[in-house]
Amino acid sequence: MILSVYDAMHDEGDKMATYKQPCSKCGELIDRDVRSCPKCSTKTPFGYQCPVCLKPIDRGYTSCPGCGRKLMTTCPKCNGQTFVGNDTCDACGKTLMVLCQNKKNCGKHQFFENKKCTLCGKPIKNASEQIKKQMKEE
Ligand SMILES: [Zn+2]
Ligand SMILES: [Zn+2]
Ligand SMILES: [Zn+2]
Ligand SMILES: [Zn+2]
Repeated sequence: MILSVYDAMHDEGDKMATYKQPCSKCGELIDRDVRSCPKCSTKTPFGYQCPVCLKPIDRGYTSCPGCGRKLMTTCPKCNGQTFVGNDTCDACGKTLMVLCQNKKNCGKHQFFENKKCTLCGKPIKNASEQIKKQMKEE
């Protein structure tokens, strides 16, 4: 049995010092690591971010100004092209996030292509297995 990505998302407790920033859409002060605004529920309250280096990115860019990674990638679920600033595939709408397996201390969502967790720095080893599991469940 495995928690769906969405269940896990709602279970995330906030033990860390909170660093709040206004939502770019509605102005509500929200935690920097949330994935959607609790007030207006936009998925990109801080604009788009590179999933690897967390620098701000935009849909017009071809590569990240911070780490140079390409900003379009192939969805492992539908093989469509998708923008890496989104949590979900542009083509099929399925999630592209996996959980950092360092569950006790982290357990945060990470982009499936990330080699290392952007929060705890631990390697992410089983992203493709997680994606396969998600595909069975979806
Ligand atoms: Zn908002
Ligand atoms: Zn980057
Ligand atoms: Zn897709
Ligand atoms: Zn982590």
